[in-house]
Amino acid sequence: MDIYNYSPVPKDVNIDRYYESTILPLLQPGKEGDLCNWLKSIGLLATEVKCPNADCNNVNLTWCKARVVDKYNWSCPLCKKKLPIRYKSFLADFKCDLPSVIKEPPFLDEIGRAGATGLATIIWNLSLDGTDKVLATDVLQKLINAPQDASQPKFDAILTETYCLTETIAAGFAQKFDCPLINYQPGPMTANIAYMVGNPYNPGYMPDYKMPFTSNMNLWQR
Ligand SMILES: [Zn+2]
Repeated sequence: MDIYNYSPVPKDVNIDRYYESTILPLLQPGKEGDLCNWLKSIGLLATEVKCPNADCNNVNLTWCKARVVDKYNWSCPLCKKKLPIRYKSFLADFKCDLPSVIKEPPFLDEIGRAGATGLATIIWNLSLDGTDKVLATDVLQKLINAPQDASQPKFDAILTETYCLTETIAAGFAQKFDCPLINYQPGPMTANIAYMVGNPYNPGYMPDYKMPFTSNMNLWQR
């Protein structure tokens, strides 16, 4: 699968403002049935469920209206067994109502309005907070406090994600355990990360993802 082109939205649908035009109306009270149908159409709810009752010979369950939070159940036409509409689906273990699962999290809106420096600040603060939490875990505390002698754990290499300069902590581990450090960057390449990992970087045709530009930039934007 080409992950860069993968989208649950059908190819012939205009994705421009898809969230506002298509998804948001489905999250309103009274639209639970339509929301279920949309989740089914994009594969987040099962499209087919067989009755688990052996006497029913794998008959397909059908949707029926129900007085439950999702407004629908799967129902067996033979034994009348009812199962939640999320049964055997990606959403089976979610505890909240379906609109809350789909709703755009507030931090995305915050990021959208933050601008380039604001976004960098948000990521920086997230990194500091996350790093403190990771370093405080028992696993890393054990490694930090391991004596630097022949009894210390051996590693072939340390892999770390390059984000916001906090990967220098992994560099400390590589030094302590005397092994190579492998930095990877799963997100878009930025100038500082390209510099850090020794990659060439050409802002002339590839804008930093924090900037509101496309590859079609004028001279000043470049
Ligand atoms: Zn049945």
